[in-house]
Amino acid sequence: MKLEKSIELYTKGQKNLVGAVNSPVRAFKSVGGVPVFIDHAKGSKIVDVDGNEYVDMVLSYGPMILGHRHEKVEKSIKKGLKKGYTFGASTNKEIKLAKMVCNAFPGMDKVRFVNSGTEAVLSAIRLARAYTGHNKIIKFSGCYHGHTDALLVAAGSGLATLSLPGSAGVPDEAVKNTLIAEFNNLESVQKHIEQNNDIAAVIVEPIAGNMGVVEPSQEFIQGLRALTKEKGILLILDEVMTGFRSKFGGAQELLGVEADITCLGKVIGGGFPVGAYGASDEIMNMVAPLGAMYQAGTLSGNPIAMACGIATLKELKKQNPYKSFNKKAKKIKEMLLASADRHGVALQVNHFGSMINPFFTDQEVTDFSTAQTCNTDSFKIFFWQMMENGVFLPPSQFEAWFLSSALSKKDLKKIERAIEISMVKVSEKQTKK
Ligand code: PLP
Repeated sequence: MKLEKSIELYTKGQKNLVGAVNSPVRAFKSVGGVPVFIDHAKGSKIVDVDGNEYVDMVLSYGPMILGHRHEKVEKSIKKGLKKGYTFGASTNKEIKLAKMVCNAFPGMDKVRFVNSGTEAVLSAIRLARAYTGHNKIIKFSGCYHGHTDALLVAAGSGLATLSLPGSAGVPDEAVKNTLIAEFNNLESVQKHIEQNNDIAAVIVEPIAGNMGVVEPSQEFIQGLRALTKEKGILLILDEVMTGFRSKFGGAQELLGVEADITCLGKVIGGGFPVGAYGASDEIMNMVAPLGAMYQAGTLSGNPIAMACGIATLKELKKQNPYKSFNKKAKKIKEMLLASADRHGVALQVNHFGSMINPFFTDQEVTDFSTAQTCNTDSFKIFFWQMMENGVFLPPSQFEAWFLSSALSKKDLKKIERAIEISMVKVSEKQTKK
């Protein structure tokens, strides 16, 4: 596989960029080798600077649900560009997108647009604290909610329950109000509630996507809803990944559960930086300028980003690709399992809607500790073989693969072929050991 130009850019980029990237996962650290630099993308395909073409299963970590540069979306962006890029004043586009978002999530009367998922989550936490007057929050190990201090708590291993910061530069005080529970384990939440009387919120990825894809049991998610309601604790569903992806109404529609505060990102911007948090009037009226909880942003509700979001959601609603996503993801799951079986590779595959993950382990993956049983060396081999055979994957065992509505039958054939070749290589390495 020719990666000369990527290598050249990677070397050049080191001088003025940290690790030559602007987000750490792009550095390919967990799979080794040189990160691929991208030149362009269209539909289901992405092309690197050396001219290698891949079927894109990363889709910018989720936003590109229609594939790259959908005609109608691009038209709206171009139209918007002619009017100006940002005004520092409100536009009709914000109202339009807000209506679309609130209509999709029944528990949401009002929404506030921000610039990223991280911003959406940190604002939602502040809002929950303002509304309840309580300080503590419960998060689940293995769930990622962006890089806000309070949620950068070591997830997994023995440290997880100690509320120790998971990053240098996060003071102990910033995470002392963060309690860690286990995904799919209601008892671990109940315990915290019994021991603490000042919990503002429980925050969860309703379908976990940051420890690989892990589906919540109905008992867990419905139990979480009932328990928080009973105790006057707000339930924050972080749908940055799942919003408009699991279903048009997100994981909430798919699972039949309603959040007190919903966090959104990725798909609502269609590839431009947009995040959002929303809730009932009663909760949202706490936010400035109506209420005492302050939150602001120079570029929030940016007109081009709004235009892209509106066009993406309109097209998504029209296409209604969710059944087809499920079918295609199921097909990929079958391909993976059949190939692993043929070559004696221990593999579990979790898929939920248009998110899918192969885990190189023989244990069923239901939470962070079972996800940790994966053989990451096998993933590394698999990853590079898939790349060599034209499938662009997230460079981590624990990142979900995403589907776009542009994914064709031909792409699926290419994926099948790549899986078979890659699985043989994984199996060969296992035998050599
Ligand atoms: N929440 C979830 C569930 C995410 O998956 C992510 C990012 O992947 C975030 C929050 C943070 O979003 P952003 O990277 O836009 O800040």
